[in-house]
Amino acid sequence: MTQQPIGILGGTFDPIHYGHLRLAEEMLELAGLQQIRFIPTGNPPHRDTPQVSAKDRSAMVALAINDQPAFVLDEREARQANKCFTINTLRELRAESGETQPLCLLMGGDAFLQLHTWHEWEQILDLAHIVVGYRPGFTLEERIHSATPKLRQHYQERLCTVEYLSKHAFGGIAELAIPKLEISATLIRSRIAEKRTIRYLLPATVAHYIYQHNLYTPC
Ligand code: ATP
Repeated sequence: MTQQPIGILGGTFDPIHYGHLRLAEEMLELAGLQQIRFIPTGNPPHRDTPQVSAKDRSAMVALAINDQPAFVLDEREARQANKCFTINTLRELRAESGETQPLCLLMGGDAFLQLHTWHEWEQILDLAHIVVGYRPGFTLEERIHSATPKLRQHYQERLCTVEYLSKHAFGGIAELAIPKLEISATLIRSRIAEKRTIRYLLPATVAHYIYQHNLYTPC
């Protein structure tokens, strides 16, 4: 039996930009996902970033995904005052979607190579697949030697095809070649602080929201 997987894209989205949106759109298509849930992180105390409130970051995600019906804003982490761990969000999503629904945690290659720093990271594959976007010409296999031995072992044992994702509810690691746009939220924040243009780096509606609410400008 096959079931179209649900994708999960967590991030600070501080702010959301075309790098995130292209990653999601390509993964939607290449992995045959039925939906992608964008889950902005909350505002953990004692941290420098995110720079703007979870409410503003969620509002910008809502504007950015407005015209793609397969993209959904999920505010469960944004509503929490304390730090949320991805593993707990996945436990909730698994309980809500049932045992057989395939879930795919989506991330860029850089994020995957840091996976061993995540809370209870080894349990993630008991709840979801992991789908990693890597730059064409730079496979993850070539870079996995820089990961910890445990992460390398998981990668080698769990590497799977795209077809596997819809036939199983969790447990696989799939790689998708996705051109990486040279855009980051850090770049956008620094350009705003320097009063430089951010046009074409993120949707115009998001840029408008940023200017309207005076976000990322030094006080
Ligand atoms: P910052 O610059 O503040 O660190 P960011 O732009 O990297 O932020 P995040 O919210 O930290 O954005 O990223 C969420 C997810 O999106 C991560 O899995 C990350 O690998 C991926 N991602 C971010 N930017 C890109 C991009 N340009 N292309 C592909 N994936 C991206």
